[in-house]
Amino acid sequence: MSAEGISNLDPPWYNLFSICMSKKGQFIFLGTAASAGVPVIGCQCPVCHSSHSQNIRLRPSGVIRVGRKRFLIDVGPDFRQQALQHGLDDLDALLLTHTHYDHIAGIDELRVYYLKDQKRIPCFLSQESLSDLKKRYDYLFQKISGPTLSAQLDFFPFEKDHGMIDVEGLPVQYMSYFQAGTKVSGFRLGDFAYISDIREYDESLFIHLKGVSKLVLSALRDTPSPLHFSLDEAVAFVGRVKPEKTLLTHISHALDHEKTNRRLPPSIQLAFDGDEMEFTLA
Ligand SMILES: [Zn+2]
Ligand SMILES: [Zn+2]
Repeated sequence: MSAEGISNLDPPWYNLFSICMSKKGQFIFLGTAASAGVPVIGCQCPVCHSSHSQNIRLRPSGVIRVGRKRFLIDVGPDFRQQALQHGLDDLDALLLTHTHYDHIAGIDELRVYYLKDQKRIPCFLSQESLSDLKKRYDYLFQKISGPTLSAQLDFFPFEKDHGMIDVEGLPVQYMSYFQAGTKVSGFRLGDFAYISDIREYDESLFIHLKGVSKLVLSALRDTPSPLHFSLDEAVAFVGRVKPEKTLLTHISHALDHEKTNRRLPPSIQLAFDGDEMEFTLA
């Protein structure tokens, strides 16, 4: 088939073609900060005043890229800036971990994708997250006719605490754990998993993470937190999963990027905004 033949295929066929041809995927960190971002407003600490670009962190989010598909994990308050920085001109799906502010406050920004090509974005989330979203953003669930001021999303709540979903032709595994009583979802594609905002979990989580070799995991700071893993707790969790490489996210201003990475093993490092991780789908 000529190159011209490929480019003339209809987009759905081309998408299938590109997925089949690419067994690899990439995860791009759009943001790696804890809920307040780094620097923190009004803070005088050395990290918040650091000139090192990797100490500047936007709120936690990332994009899974497989072929021409782009799946966004969480849509925090910095989403517009992140989308512009990374040229996120198209979006095929939104995966939500949970509905705390730092993970959903940019949801209204998704309106631009509907205005561009009238395509509604499928959103995958837990039943609990869907119920909470209905309270926080009731207007997202109102039927509209004519011009819209809100994002146009189709919601697909998970049926169980863990399972498999089809996201635009790709199998995505979801699993759940808790953060101070809030149910949070983690996601897995092939040998890659994204586990953020984890505090309490069931032992069965390790069954769902068996075989993961590229892990994104949240770790807030050195001192204990009621909401997040400390650095030591994250390292201990990694020891149970045994991935080849772990990049830590959801990082507070208590951790300097370079100094912290020097005391961590090479296989476990703090991620930075714009960092990437390659993974294998099957
Ligand atoms: Zn968070
Ligand atoms: Zn600070």
